[in-house]
Amino acid sequence: MAGFDIRELMNDIDEAPGKVWFWDLEKAVIDADRCVQCGVCVAACPTDSIGIGSDDLPELVKMCTGCSLCWDFCPRGGLQYESTWKIMGADHSVEGIGKVEESYTARVNPMIEGVQDGGFVSALLISLLEAGEIDGALVARESATERWKGEAFLARTPEEVRECAGSFYNQTLALGHVDFKEYDLPPNPRIAVVGTPCEIEGIKAMQARPWTWGTSKVEAITLTIALLCTKSFNYEKLMLEEIQAKRGVDLENVGRVDIIRGKMIVQDLEGESIFEEPIRDFHGAALKGCDECADFMGHAADISVGSVGSADGYSSVLVRSEEGLTAFESVREKLELRELDKPEALDKLDALDKRVAFKSLKRAFDPEAPLFIDYEEHLENYAGTDRAPVEHEAVRY
Ligand SMILES: Cc1cc2nc3c(=O)[nH]c(=O)nc-3n(C[C@H](O)[C@H](O)[C@H](O)COP(=O)(O)OP(=O)(O)OC[C@H]3O[C@@H](n4cnc5c(N)ncnc54)[C@H](O)[C@@H]3O)c2cc1C
Ligand code: SF4
Ligand code: SF4
Repeated sequence: MAGFDIRELMNDIDEAPGKVWFWDLEKAVIDADRCVQCGVCVAACPTDSIGIGSDDLPELVKMCTGCSLCWDFCPRGGLQYESTWKIMGADHSVEGIGKVEESYTARVNPMIEGVQDGGFVSALLISLLEAGEIDGALVARESATERWKGEAFLARTPEEVRECAGSFYNQTLALGHVDFKEYDLPPNPRIAVVGTPCEIEGIKAMQARPWTWGTSKVEAITLTIALLCTKSFNYEKLMLEEIQAKRGVDLENVGRVDIIRGKMIVQDLEGESIFEEPIRDFHGAALKGCDECADFMGHAADISVGSVGSADGYSSVLVRSEEGLTAFESVREKLELRELDKPEALDKLDALDKRVAFKSLKRAFDPEAPLFIDYEEHLENYAGTDRAPVEHEAVRY
């Protein structure tokens, strides 16, 4: 099937004004330093032409047909990301925590070792696996070769979920790992995905249409869990340059990294503080594209989870959908639950996140807009700004 036919079927742009190639995405997003490493372009490519380079950025690995889908589904490109929120039934004025069915401050009891906050995410995944409700959970596991670098990993046993507990403050290009071909799974697997809100936006946009091209199995994803997120980081810049080189911290000796109450907190293996510094000192290591994101709350997810809004050692849990409610029931009895401790803290951080996003986005923010933005329209909005496409010699196959 020709690229244009696919595009007409897959999105709500009636007539494609021209082909958009991978190298157009490259100029406007990747080379313009706006990529947030979600991996959605990898999943969206119907010919599996996009891979992940050694720099953890998407790269062309074989011929691009100009079908435009990598552009359409990129949350820094053609995807009007905030328009994915209405897929979940959110109204147009998505403020604060947004659409929720239930919300809690929660902690698993007994506690699971190594979790970041109240252990809700690990407890939920373990319960779902034990109940046979899912066949795997796409989470982050520490790289075998690089300390404190999270990599996408499909956990298929409670033990594997336990090994992957805790937060890695780098993106894993999760959507670049949903072909699941390296895993032995049943014929129609049911997979839970834990990811940052931009990754969940991509899943929901792709799932809103039948997807039968390429090897990515977005249809296998039956539950999405968003980690509340104001920014993510470049692994090399944060862990190797800022923490290891500049501050002289041996990463082998780091037991915990936390970003909480506006501070970066790094502890050793015994739980003693190595340093505590304002998060603004690390701004240079954050992904520039994150500034344009107003989805701290993970509005497109079935369940959003974070630390803000709850006392230390607890998780703030926002259950947004029927699927989320059903999943939540499987873990309810293993949790200490109460009303959200400080919902106003969530609202406050959301307002700050949106202020930054509205300043950085070079287009109008509009959750009611169509889901896709044409490349030409993007150029009109971004040309001449500090986020303009970067001209370069494209590698063409
Ligand atoms: C980049 C980033 C930024 C965040 N920013 C905030 C914030 O500003 N405010 C806030 O309240 N919370 C934030 N969080 C969420 C917070 O750090 C915890 O992940 C969350 O509270 C869940 O805690 P838990 O104890 O329930 O999870 P756990 O039981 O510890 O489980 C966490 C799960 O998330 C998976 N995971 C860890 N890192 C990643 C990753 N990078 N990509 C995909 N999956 C991953 C783990 O493998 C594990 O399965 C952020 C998380 C990340 C990764
Ligand atoms: S932001 Fe996501 S979809 Fe866009 S180029 Fe980067 S990895 Fe691909
Ligand atoms: S701030 Fe937004 S764009 Fe950046 S990683 Fe978090 S959810 Fe993705």
